[in-house]
Amino acid sequence: MEASELGFDPEALREKYRAERDKRLRADGNQQYQEVVGDFSHYVDDPYIESKIEREPLQDTVEVIIVGGGFGGLIAGARLREAGIESIRVIEKGGDFGGTWYWNRYPGAACDVESYIYLPLCEELDFVPKKKYTHAPEILEHSKNIGKKYDLYRDACFQTEVTGMSWQEEEKLWLVSTNRGDAMRARFVVMSNGPLNRPKLPGIPGISDYKGHTFHTSRWDYDYTGGGPEGNLEKLKDKTIGIIGTGATAVQCVPHLGASAKQLYVFQRTPSSIDVRNNRPTDLEWAASLKPGWHKERMENFDTLTSGGIVEQDLIKDGWTEIISNLISMANYRGQNLEPREIARLMELADFQKMEQVRSRAQEIVDDPETAESLKPYYRQFCKRPCFHDEYLPTFNRDNVQLADTDGKGVDAITEKGIVANGEEFKVDCIIFATGFEVGTEYTRRSGYDLVGKNGQTLSKKWADGLRTFHGMHTHGFPNLFNIGTAQGGFTTNFPHSMDEQSQHIAYIVSECLSGNVREIEASKEAEDAWVEEIISFARIGERFQAECTPGYYNNEGQPNPKSVQSQSYGKGPNAFFKKLKAWREDGNMPGMNLS
Ligand code: NDP
Repeated sequence: MEASELGFDPEALREKYRAERDKRLRADGNQQYQEVVGDFSHYVDDPYIESKIEREPLQDTVEVIIVGGGFGGLIAGARLREAGIESIRVIEKGGDFGGTWYWNRYPGAACDVESYIYLPLCEELDFVPKKKYTHAPEILEHSKNIGKKYDLYRDACFQTEVTGMSWQEEEKLWLVSTNRGDAMRARFVVMSNGPLNRPKLPGIPGISDYKGHTFHTSRWDYDYTGGGPEGNLEKLKDKTIGIIGTGATAVQCVPHLGASAKQLYVFQRTPSSIDVRNNRPTDLEWAASLKPGWHKERMENFDTLTSGGIVEQDLIKDGWTEIISNLISMANYRGQNLEPREIARLMELADFQKMEQVRSRAQEIVDDPETAESLKPYYRQFCKRPCFHDEYLPTFNRDNVQLADTDGKGVDAITEKGIVANGEEFKVDCIIFATGFEVGTEYTRRSGYDLVGKNGQTLSKKWADGLRTFHGMHTHGFPNLFNIGTAQGGFTTNFPHSMDEQSQHIAYIVSECLSGNVREIEASKEAEDAWVEEIISFARIGERFQAECTPGYYNNEGQPNPKSVQSQSYGKGPNAFFKKLKAWREDGNMPGMNLS
């Protein structure tokens, strides 16, 4: 197709994307961020606890310890309970269940995947969320309800951080130590630390010099701002606020800051892609009409649609499913037996077309042409997490809100009084860091503890040259241990679905081991090597796409390398991965695992 027919010039766009990416490439990659340790550790203090839990250190033995009380830990706990496991202890840093939704209470926080599929165990709890994209308080409440329904509160240890774990060969147990002086033992350990659990700060010169108030979005300071998750931040009416970052989090909280603050400066390095949200209350008649099995069917429908598969009906009908079907149908390659290169070209055209639509939305909504131009994303839509919001862009039409666009460079410095960008100092009363979470750093740094497996080998050493697992969940040399996550497993945009499939798998293995008197189960080296090879061979297909993307946590800050490629998810997509797990269970012999 010619540029005149398309309405854009693909080569000119390709060149623009390249130029925008190149501006953002930096030699320091992941090292550009300031770790929240030492003088910065207060950024991860828990602002939500009402009182510190006092308890004696524990030295008992349980069947299963689950590290992390977020969705992953809760679903694993639920599926283990269903499998008849009585003795389950969840260890959680926060003061309650919820994980991401315990920490992220910023105004406007809501799930950005449809809540009818995002919230886990909906049928088990006979629950349908109140809105298509429900807000954080309802998700936190649902998390607590899962804890209650499956009696996970009984043995849970909140406000407790694991500090180390070591395999006791003679006892065939894991010894788990914590910052509460605990030395607990467990036959099995499930690690569900969360993929985005550790806030990061920008390593900006002068960050320690600032004398005003600061906090990270994942520890929202309502004492300072007033108001609550619904907004109305009344204590900001005489305050000038600077927010650094314009990712998925900032997109949700900026409208509330704009509505409440005397003055708001939004510091942008790369604009997010902001498409239509169209949130709405749940249709109660529809909710009442749902038939048993609806939740699983809907989750699978979403996964199929978002991985390019064919379904009779799109049950979700939102931006996520539309993006993918748009890509596929515009590329219109199915059944045409096209060369992979031609498919890639058509997909790129479809991607350009969608992003042109997103850019014209910014143009139409934002009054000031210069601001509108700065808010236009110039990269392929899956280089960063696509955002959907109906109030974010209009916020820039307010007189008290100013976009401080840094043209890809980021903020220059922080002074005693404010933020310097493009050589100009913006004096602010408070700096809010919406700068996201660590992704590409070492697993043990993000989890906060190391493990000592068989023969004294540490997990940090084992994974020093790249992640090595079987099915993303088991690792040779570390028996009776399961890891919940998407690296080397099945990735879906609807992450809780993946956690549920993994949890069902883990529950199957644990109950088989307990009923069959298996004391030790461990992935064989051969099975692990073969799995890692399979992951790498598929990941190579996406390597070029990642390398051409604008930097971010999806592509290791613009520095994809063999280690980051090795940490990709299963290349044939989530449904294929889940089927693989199911077939493995049905085999009945646990191939690839050594049992004793
Ligand atoms: P992100 O990592 O997506 O965003 C961080 C932001 O900080 C980016 O805009 C980044 O710019 C910016 N930044 C970093 N350093 C600087 C600097 N030196 N100067 C200026 N800007 C800087 O974090 P979020 O917390 O927004 O989102 C993290 C993830 O959490 C999302 O991708 C999503 O997966 C999840 N999320 C999910 C939600 C849900 O509803 N399910 C809601 C919110 C978040 P740049 O882009 O240039 O790096």
